[in-house]
Amino acid sequence: MKVTAAVVGSKDGPFQLEEVEIGEPRADELLVKITAVGMCHTDLSVRSQATPFPLPGVLGHEGAGVVDQVGAQVRDFRAGDKVVLSFDSCGSCPPCQAGQVVYCQQWIPLNLLGGSRLDGSATLTRASGDLHGHFFGQSSFATHALVSARSAVKVDDDVDLSQLAPLGCSVQTGAGAVLNVARPEPGSTIVVFGAGGAGHRRRRERRPPEAGIRTRGDRHGQPGRR
Ligand SMILES: [Zn+2]
Ligand SMILES: [Zn+2]
Repeated sequence: MKVTAAVVGSKDGPFQLEEVEIGEPRADELLVKITAVGMCHTDLSVRSQATPFPLPGVLGHEGAGVVDQVGAQVRDFRAGDKVVLSFDSCGSCPPCQAGQVVYCQQWIPLNLLGGSRLDGSATLTRASGDLHGHFFGQSSFATHALVSARSAVKVDDDVDLSQLAPLGCSVQTGAGAVLNVARPEPGSTIVVFGAGGAGHRRRRERRPPEAGIRTRGDRHGQPGRR
């Protein structure tokens, strides 16, 4: 099926809209029509190649949308379901079996280095040459994303997907930094540098609630108090 994707052709290149081909969902996959997507620092660091991912490629890893097609063995989703997408995981290694999917032993090849499914097959192709996809299991800077059902979380029909898209990366990162790492004591004060998706979530997830919090924002590169 032909879809439109924002392709980064080379290091520091622009995001250019192109018509590309997306595959049919395999038995354990979903084809998702993307309606909202966050822009994370990691997308930009791949574009500059500070983070390794093969180019030319389609980035985007905070996608949200509506299920368009469902693989034959997928039971938890139906066409029309609203979903939020996150990274992929193998489901069978010891950390995945223990529910710690973020520590999946296949995390790096599944989400970053390969630019393809784990078996090397492409989710996105184009007639004009090479194209890498499956970025963080999704490559959601496109009208559609082909993802493992393990990457998707169903959400209520009445939610605003534009508000939920950053759950895929920055919200998890910000909340995890406070809840699992900083773990502030009552009466302590947290200073958050940067007021993007991760920074705002750190503000929300202060625990205990008595902890004070200050965020140093940055707008157009000029630090300021928020
Ligand atoms: Zn795993
Ligand atoms: Zn991210």
